[in-house]
This record gives sequence, C-alpha cells and structure tokens, in this order.
Amino acid sequence: MQVAGSAFRDLPSVDQMLRQPLIAALIDDHGRQAVTGAVRDALANARDALRSGASIHVDTIIADVHDLLADRQRATLRPVFNLTGTVLHTNLGRAVLAEEAIAAALAAMRDPVALEFDLETGTRGERDDHVRDLICELTGAEDATIVNNNAAAVLLVLNTLALGKEAVVSRGELIEIGGAFRMPEIMERAGAKLREVGTTNRTHARDYTGALSAETGLVLKVHTSNYRIEGFTAEVSARELAAIVHDKGIHLVNDLGSGTLVDLSHYGLAKEPTVREAVADGADLVTFSGDKLLGGPQAGFIVGRKDLIAAINRNPMKRALRVDKIRLAACEATLKLYRDPDRLAERLPTLRLLARSVAEIEAQAQRLAPPLHRAVAGHVTVEIVSCQSQIGSGALPLETLPSAGLALTPPGGGKALEALSRAFRDLPKPIIGRVERGALIFDLRSLSDEADFICNLASFSGGAAA
Ligand SMILES: *Cc1c(COP(=O)(O)O)cnc(C)c1O
Repeated sequence: MQVAGSAFRDLPSVDQMLRQPLIAALIDDHGRQAVTGAVRDALANARDALRSGASIHVDTIIADVHDLLADRQRATLRPVFNLTGTVLHTNLGRAVLAEEAIAAALAAMRDPVALEFDLETGTRGERDDHVRDLICELTGAEDATIVNNNAAAVLLVLNTLALGKEAVVSRGELIEIGGAFRMPEIMERAGAKLREVGTTNRTHARDYTGALSAETGLVLKVHTSNYRIEGFTAEVSARELAAIVHDKGIHLVNDLGSGTLVDLSHYGLAKEPTVREAVADGADLVTFSGDKLLGGPQAGFIVGRKDLIAAINRNPMKRALRVDKIRLAACEATLKLYRDPDRLAERLPTLRLLARSVAEIEAQAQRLAPPLHRAVAGHVTVEIVSCQSQIGSGALPLETLPSAGLALTPPGGGKALEALSRAFRDLPKPIIGRVERGALIFDLRSLSDEADFICNLASFSGGAAA
C-alpha cells in the first residue's frame, strides 16, 4: 500500500501533463478540449494500473494519450476490403458507387443545388423531378417516386393504399429480410391488415379470388429474394395475378426487392426479373432498391400508375421518408449510366464485379499469393483456391458465381484462425474474408485495387506469428 500511496502522489496533474512538450504539441492537431479529455482518461488508466500493483512512468502516460487520441480520431465507418465473396454485402454497405455517381454526390455536397427549384421557370420544383423521367424511361413506367430505401417504399405503399384495409399476400411470400424487416410486422406498422392466402409451398389463383372483397386494399406480390421454395410448389405469376385483381378493381403491388434495370443474362449472369418486365406484367406499382443490383446509393423506388404515385406523394409519411440531395445526385448519375448498356459493365462497379471471369480472378490470385505469403511471414500456408461468390442482398440466393481466392491456414486451427482474421481486420484498411473449413478465405472477386491491397499488407503484424 505504501508504494501505491507514494506513486499516486507522484502522478502528475492534468495541468502538468498539458505543459509537457509532447502533449502540448498534440493540441495543434486535436484541439485543447480533446487533448485534456485524453489526458484525464490516461491519468485514470494510470491510477487503475497503480491500484493493481503496476509501476507507471510518465512516458507510459504520454504514450497512452497519443493512443487514445489516435483511436478517437480514426473514423469508425472505415473503408475495408470486402473479400467475403458476397458482392453486395449488406453489412459492408452494399453497392460501391460508380465514379460518375461519386462526382455528382461530391458536387451536391459542396454547393447549393437546384433540389426543389425549377431552373427553367425560376419557381419551386420537386425533388423527384431529377430522377422521375429517367426511371420512367428505363422501366416503361408511367410515373415514379424515390424514398429512403425499399423498406420505406413498401411501408409507404401499404400505408397509402391499404390503411385500415386488407393487404392480401401468399403464405409463400411472407418474407423476412435481415435486420427485422418482416413483411407481417411492416404491414402492421403501415396500418394494413395482413390477409394470408394459400400455403407455404402452393398458392393458387382461387386462393386469391376467394380472399378479394370490399375490404381489400391491395394485393402484394413479393419477390422471394433470399430463399427459394422448391419441390411441390405452385405460385400465381404477377401477370396472372394482375388480370385477377384488375377484374375486381383492386391494385396489384409487386415488391421486387433487388430488381434490376437490365437483363443480367447479357452479362453472363442468371436472369433476375427486371423492373421493366414487372411493369409490363401489369403491376400497378413496383418497388425496388437503389443499392442492390441497381448499383447505386441506398434508396427505394416506387414506379407505376400516375394516380397512385400522386396519392403516395400526398401521404405525409412521404416527407419523413424522402432522400437527401447527396443521394439524389448519386442516383441520377447512376441511372444515366443505364442509357449506355454497352459500357455499363465497365462503369458500374456492381456489374463489373459480378461479371468478372474466373480466369481474370485466378490470374489476380497468382499475382497476390507471393506478397500475401511474405506478409504472413511463412507461419501460415497460403494457397490459391477456387471458391464460389454470391451476389448478396437477396438477389439470386441460390446462384453462385465461380471465383478464385487465397486460403490462409494457420497451424493450430481455432484460436489461431481467429487471431489471423483479427490481424487482417486490424490493418489500416481492414481486410474482411470469410472463415471456412479451418481456413481464412479471401475471395478476390471484389478486389479492384491490387496496389492498395499490397501496400496495406506492409502494416501486417502478426496474429498468426503468436
Ligand atoms: C431487400 C428487400 C427489401 C428491403 O429493401 P431495402 O432496400 O433493404 O430497404 C424489401 N423487399 C424485398 C423483397 C427485398 O429483397
């Protein structure tokens, strides 16, 4: 106790610390308030250390202040390498934007923009005007509006067309998308009464017809984005359903989820329903995401009949779900790329990554294996492996894309593998892979900047070596 007591007395005060040249120098970079806060915390850490019997030197406290400030300065929303093999990874921010979209977003951030201002007439305009005509041109829809994300689009459509009424959905389509987006709960919050029809695996036209009444607000068809029901199944196509509901003067809404504006089979991928097809099949409204296959920023699009879009725009909830100028600028620029489908795969990162050939990715694996091997300093085996990428974000859930990657296997399995993954996450630009059968796999499909990747490896220190 004697030792601790005298050591406590020996601890410098906050003022004494701030007068230390090495600490004073930090004020220029971080400001007095932040440095004072870090000094207080470092002194508290020192007192804790003394209490547990350690001895403390002033240099240790100074180093702690440095570390605390560096830690607090670093953004938590940091760029990472997505080598998980899931191209549109929801937890890693889904689509990476095209340079054109980035430039447009930057310009909108820096200056005032004609967001709700008609430059032609000098009078008030509408924020949807910037994308409406483009979306209509690309989808064949009569009208369109844009909101925060597709979940918001679905919520808004239900609340506008089915408030206090029934929304009819097949039991095979009552989806849950990650992050608590569950169709029955969204319906409840939207004020619609869920009317389930059919069974999990089979829903027939007569199931829908039997459920339609004066109580029906709308019929909702939901694209089963993240699962597939196989075997003894039956569903009613959107086209058939449109005929059934229109006969009764009821609206059909088709929630496509990912939805795409181009036929993916032109790019060597499996076919996913396009928005244009969903519109042509007779849905009154179609909803889809901006940051899934479309490859833009987070957004939700509602396209379809003019009178229904007008009703949606009159709903006060629309105001709460609208998008800001930055994303609107990025959306406009992204959509414009679709006017030139021939160059789309070069310019839109999502499509470029999805369309990469195995041969190209394999060649990249060959180039990157040696520097990776050097970085892990021989403790870990590095092998070129073939693997399967996924599109992600609920597009073509069963479809995988043949890919190539690097498998890192540390000796000792379990704990060593965890330490290795951690060491790659600790890099200045964290590298996120996936752990599979005792190895850390880096699927290279989504790796664009090889030089950046190699440069980053120079900071690799460890985990595995321990
Ligand atoms: C992804 C998805 C949603 C939610 O879209 P967000 O853009 O994530 O809000 C809704 N419905 C379906 C069918 C989906 O696939």
